[in-house]
Amino acid sequence: MLTAIYPGSFDPVTNGHLDIISRASQIFDTLIVGILENPQKKEYLFTVDEREAMLREVVKGISNVTVEVFNGLLVRFARQKKCRVILRGLRAISDYEYETQIAITNRKMSPEVETFFLPTSTEFSYLNSTVVKEIARFGGSVRCLVPEIVERRLREKFQTIS
Ligand code: ADP
Repeated sequence: MLTAIYPGSFDPVTNGHLDIISRASQIFDTLIVGILENPQKKEYLFTVDEREAMLREVVKGISNVTVEVFNGLLVRFARQKKCRVILRGLRAISDYEYETQIAITNRKMSPEVETFFLPTSTEFSYLNSTVVKEIARFGGSVRCLVPEIVERRLREKFQTIS
């Protein structure tokens, strides 16, 4: 049985993330989407509970995908889950440098855990959570960029904080 962890902030989950999740779910026996809870790292728009609820909703039709929250070292979480694969999505060459640095560092700490990269589908190569939040913040439509539940939550969020 091959289990992979797909870690990220998912603030919020986009169609680009979903593309990686659904393609990976056809390759690995189990895929754990790991939401990083790291209050020191950066300001999130959504709380970890909100991010988790949206992710659970959008993957509920994929039987071998689970959603979990973790904090601290990713390789420690992988070890706890008896998981030997970390999966990351690659959009552009610019992702590659940062991602290989992290992958090499993780492998130094935990040689039994390998990082796999999955290139994005071309239609999502420009997409990230920050872009989605900027469009939504100024009232633009994010309909083609995120699942419906996320679109709704973004609208509610910006109504509440404006
Ligand atoms: P992080 O804060 O760790 O970068 P993100 O939530 O932004 O977390 O992304 C999680 C993973 O999804 C990363 O591997 C990232 O490269 C990948 N990813 C993000 N957006 C896309 C996209 N549009 N297409 C493919 N992969 C993506």
